[in-house]
Amino acid sequence: MRQETKCIQAGYEPGNGEPRMIPIVQSTTFKYDSSADMADLFDLKASGYFYTRLANPTNDYVAAKIAALEGGTAALLTSSGQAASFYSVFNLAGAGDHVVASTAIYGGTYNLFNVTMRRMGIDFTFVDPDCSDEELEAAFKPNTKLVFGETIANPALIVFDIERFANAAHAHGVPLIIDNTFATPINCRPFEWGADIVMHSTTKYMDGHDATVGGVIVDSGKFDWMAHADKFPGLTTPDESYHGLTYAKDFGKEGAYITKATAQLMRDFGCIQAPMNAYLLNLGLESLHVRMKKHVENGQAVAEYLEKHPKVLKVSYSGLPSDPFYKTAQKYLPQGGCGVVSFEIDGGRAAAEEFMGKLKMIAIETHVADARSCCLNPATSTHRQMTDEQLKEAGIPAGLVRLSCGLEEKEDLIADLESALA
Ligand code: PLP
Repeated sequence: MRQETKCIQAGYEPGNGEPRMIPIVQSTTFKYDSSADMADLFDLKASGYFYTRLANPTNDYVAAKIAALEGGTAALLTSSGQAASFYSVFNLAGAGDHVVASTAIYGGTYNLFNVTMRRMGIDFTFVDPDCSDEELEAAFKPNTKLVFGETIANPALIVFDIERFANAAHAHGVPLIIDNTFATPINCRPFEWGADIVMHSTTKYMDGHDATVGGVIVDSGKFDWMAHADKFPGLTTPDESYHGLTYAKDFGKEGAYITKATAQLMRDFGCIQAPMNAYLLNLGLESLHVRMKKHVENGQAVAEYLEKHPKVLKVSYSGLPSDPFYKTAQKYLPQGGCGVVSFEIDGGRAAAEEFMGKLKMIAIETHVADARSCCLNPATSTHRQMTDEQLKEAGIPAGLVRLSCGLEEKEDLIADLESALA
């Protein structure tokens, strides 16, 4: 199946007389005829469901669709993108371990790593995605367990060189995890460039309608845990908390990572996606391929318009030939990246605030990647505690506006921007 067809058909195949649409299995628990039947499920000797905190059929249909879209072997839905980022890393790294992460990642992920996960005893080294080979090499330590990057970074819109970082990770015997939220598997499939694990905030384009918060982790099934058994004892030695299973032996390369995340992390943290939300997410996925084309078309048109506007100092959009990431985007995002455009207005914080107040259709929101266009000025919202000087140092000009182009007609978006800029 092509990507477009997978959006519609993958993950769920009804049998004779069964519902055409995926059923919402809104049940916390599942009934069995004997304790022996249940015991086989607990021992993971049989597949099936016993409690929705660990797994649910509706979620599994949707996870299977996303696994197919990414070209992976297994996937797990989580309650949010933050939960997916946390699980994806914590499934491999614990106290005393180290992670190499790109500096160009979503601010919430950075905080999760740099504050909360440091408190759990995990060490992080952040590297500029444009760092030299020497700097990248120096970031690795003997206890490094993985490398983490973001295909198109939110909000900097930096395009990550996936192949380069995958090669560096593999040279050190560790996997590369990619946050593929902004590109979606319609515009980039990181596994084709050597990434081993992908995660998403499904709250963004995958849902695409502002309806559900969610996340997903997908395993490529390619990383050979047993070949690096000393680095990943959680996967390669018996899990005494789960009946002595050795995930990499019992479930192979294809199933070990997601089975461990389900059996340990879902069991203990319980960040499961509600089945109703998984159902809504599936509605979004069915049109993802159609919507992404329109988001890109609008993003490109708006970026080209803004680039020519005298009141706009700078536009970041990797589809513009003038953008420093244009070449990288041509490699990883040949069909375009996404609908998010960042631009800097002449006049700083006050001008950005005034401009946004004059917009009639484009709404001011802490969100991106939705059917409805929206925008945000970090200096007056997410980063308002910072002075203009601090913002400059962080690479976020006070006049920066992050604009998420929705699915409206581009002429109407440009008209709204034009009148507000005037
Ligand atoms: N990753 C990226 C790229 C994001 O933009 C976000 C949220 O904005 C997240 C992860 C976190 O996802 P969620 O808000 O669903 O927890």
